[in-house]
Amino acid sequence: MRRIVVLLLSCLLLSATVAVSPAVAVGKEERGPGSLRYDVTLTSDATGRSWTGRESAGFTNTTGKPLGEVYLRLWGNAWDGCKQPVKVSNLSGGVAGPLTVNCTVLKVELANVVAVGKHAVISFDLTMTAPERLEQFGRSGAYSFFGNALPVLAVHDVGGWHLEPDVGIGESYYTLAADFAVRLQHPATIQVPATGITSAGTVSIAKQVRDFAFAAGPFRQSTATSPGGVKVRTWSTNTVTAAAVADAQTTGLAAIDEFGRRFGAYPYGEIDLVLNDRWTSFSGMEYPGFVLLIAPGGPVVHELAHQWWYGIIGNNEYADPWLDEAFAVYATDLHDGDPADGCWPGTLTASITNNMGYWKSHGLNWGVYVYTYGACLLHDLDRVLGTEAMATMLRTYAKTHWYGVSTVLDFKSAVQAATTVDLTSFWKAHTIGA
Ligand SMILES: [Zn+2]
Repeated sequence: MRRIVVLLLSCLLLSATVAVSPAVAVGKEERGPGSLRYDVTLTSDATGRSWTGRESAGFTNTTGKPLGEVYLRLWGNAWDGCKQPVKVSNLSGGVAGPLTVNCTVLKVELANVVAVGKHAVISFDLTMTAPERLEQFGRSGAYSFFGNALPVLAVHDVGGWHLEPDVGIGESYYTLAADFAVRLQHPATIQVPATGITSAGTVSIAKQVRDFAFAAGPFRQSTATSPGGVKVRTWSTNTVTAAAVADAQTTGLAAIDEFGRRFGAYPYGEIDLVLNDRWTSFSGMEYPGFVLLIAPGGPVVHELAHQWWYGIIGNNEYADPWLDEAFAVYATDLHDGDPADGCWPGTLTASITNNMGYWKSHGLNWGVYVYTYGACLLHDLDRVLGTEAMATMLRTYAKTHWYGVSTVLDFKSAVQAATTVDLTSFWKAHTIGA
């Protein structure tokens, strides 16, 4: 429970009015824009707090119909009254519309309608300045953090464009896997941990990741390589103790290999654990190849589980938050050897599969239902299938949706294919609908 209580601290943020929409089954081929590639060059100020440069987003129209517009998600603008700590200007390849959804959506009318299967590029000037708040996009002393800050393209699927708000308790982000090449030019006095593998001093390359996060400041850094060959780089602010760094590194080295054995080898080569002892509203936040953690005692294992459940095997976080959070808790229990016997509390008053609009308006229930009961559902499924069959099913499920997006129906189908037991009553008893 301590883990969940700590995670619930991330709930103490702002409110927003959001619509509840039903889950929609979506075929992978209908999602887009696809074949994404982001090329970014940014130069920092002296401290790494403010970055200016240019970003381009290349894409192929995989939506199944002609594409006249795309949408940039500027989630970093959600909490500052549209003061725009993330500012986009001088657009090419299209014309910018108004900012909407708390300035987190910028519509781009494309210069030319893009036919199905054709490629296009938009590019724009970009300035990002970390706000004065202790958040994943914010500041902590001499350190700046750029989580959910770099603009990325919204997803279109059979449900239309996904322009849902940032609800402020995480799980608002739905993106497709993309290749990033990000050049972050900065003074030698600061360190810049980032998604991907950094070479030539400043260029970070990341293949097939859903987001790109980085931080800047006078971090201390320690590197170790797991027996499985994954480089674990630990970055810490100056008041994090050496013992906390060592503990996070040891835990990370073990977890990244174990989850690789369970769910498929970690494909990115490197993972950055970024430790800070000053966060108060959250204890950990996951990004591809990069996690933010409170120290000491941050949820290292949980956030590394997210490298698979959210990162490699994607989902619409807003629509189906349990498809990554329940799986991350379950994976952590596997790591800890906790079978969670007798965990199911009986009849629930809400379904685990509700979306973030629902959970935002139902407060703290969200952590208990999505994290605790969601993980319990998976433990109960383990008891129905048997541990061997459950492990095989998860590996197969992961492989099927590797770098893709899964849905509730996809998961139910994968489970049913792994057993001769009719699971209809199981799903019903565990609040999982059609
Ligand atoms: Zn989580």
